[in-house]
Amino acid sequence: MHKKKISITTKILFALVTGIVFGLVANIFFPQAANDVLSKWILNPVGNVFLRAIKMLVVPLVLFSLICGSASVGDVKKLGRVGGKIFIFYMCTTAFAVSIALLLANVLKPGVGVKLPAATSVKAAQAPFLMDIFVNMVPTNPIEAMVKGDMLQIIVFAIIFGTAMTLIGEKVKPLLNIMNQVNSVLLKMIGIIMNIAPYGVFALISGVVMNQGLKVLIPLLKYFLVCLLVMAIHVLFVYGGALRLIGKLNPIKFFKKFWPVMVMALSTSSSNATIPLNLETCEKKFGASKSVASFTIPLGATINMDGTGIMQGVAALFIAQIYGTNLSIQQQIMIILVATLASIGTAGVPSAGVVMLSMVLQQVGLPLEGVALVLSIDRLVDMARTTVNITGDAVGTLIVANSEGEVDLDIYYDRVKNSAA
Ligand code: ASP
Repeated sequence: MHKKKISITTKILFALVTGIVFGLVANIFFPQAANDVLSKWILNPVGNVFLRAIKMLVVPLVLFSLICGSASVGDVKKLGRVGGKIFIFYMCTTAFAVSIALLLANVLKPGVGVKLPAATSVKAAQAPFLMDIFVNMVPTNPIEAMVKGDMLQIIVFAIIFGTAMTLIGEKVKPLLNIMNQVNSVLLKMIGIIMNIAPYGVFALISGVVMNQGLKVLIPLLKYFLVCLLVMAIHVLFVYGGALRLIGKLNPIKFFKKFWPVMVMALSTSSSNATIPLNLETCEKKFGASKSVASFTIPLGATINMDGTGIMQGVAALFIAQIYGTNLSIQQQIMIILVATLASIGTAGVPSAGVVMLSMVLQQVGLPLEGVALVLSIDRLVDMARTTVNITGDAVGTLIVANSEGEVDLDIYYDRVKNSAA
């Protein structure tokens, strides 16, 4: 068991590296027609089968794990405490992430001197109204929420459902048992689907690299690099530091065991699609209790988007610099606020963050056409920011769980052989 799992994670890494190399080779040396055929007949189908198989699990898993999680905390006060702590962690780290992004974008000035072809023909997305995010969190019809895959609404429904079960107590124990069993079946299904992950990762990554190539990167290289730099700083120092200082956990151990989840986020560009593996990793490899992780991971995938916040901070300044506008301190504080709140309403699916960027730009009076400027390389930025987003979810989960004494440190530090490692 132990050996088999390691070989799958190694295969995933191998798939990532060969996928990138293959994509680059195809982009540079193969004729466009050959790449089109390859994408259409092999890469897209394989990548899509993998993506669809994971997505198939997301809605039921979020629903059942959140209900079981909030019902098995066993005490409404504790549920409120865990909820409060994780919410504060998610919001503060996002605000911090946007602040670092603004600081570095002010210093490094990615937009100064950049000449871009006028790309204003792309229509900017309609900016959503901020308060609608909060109102729409409450579903009028939970079944509709599940059909549409509206995570925020599913979360609200599941938490209230689980809380009600906690309040009833003993009488609904049999129901909780059944739900827990469904949950274990869903987790087992993830195990089965992960067997095709290496092929999926190869197909998704090589497809992106092959089609994007490096050409699109050149005019926006500075913007891309500043985003990557801020994200690296945030992951290594903010998350690493928080794990060590607040969570009292070894960050190196964390990253050593967490990277397969990062690869998954990188290749799918979707926090939602990463929920199953993230959940499994937090429970089985880090020893976080099910009741905390099954509550905080789906929540984080939906409302915690530090990488997206970083992109929005850098993009806002990049766009301001290109248009030659100066943003005052007040406007920049506004960006921190709006980007942090907007992260709650940003869905954990590819490209959601760039739609929300229009809201951030609108709040500070920047031209919405700016979105069109960063759109051409958004897929690459999306891969990076999704990786940051889901890392924040796991870090927050472990810190909060450990503060409640809900991390099995023997599993975290591999002091016992655990069944799923
Ligand atoms: N793709 C991101 C995620 O799933 C959201 C975004 O587009 O920023 O976390």
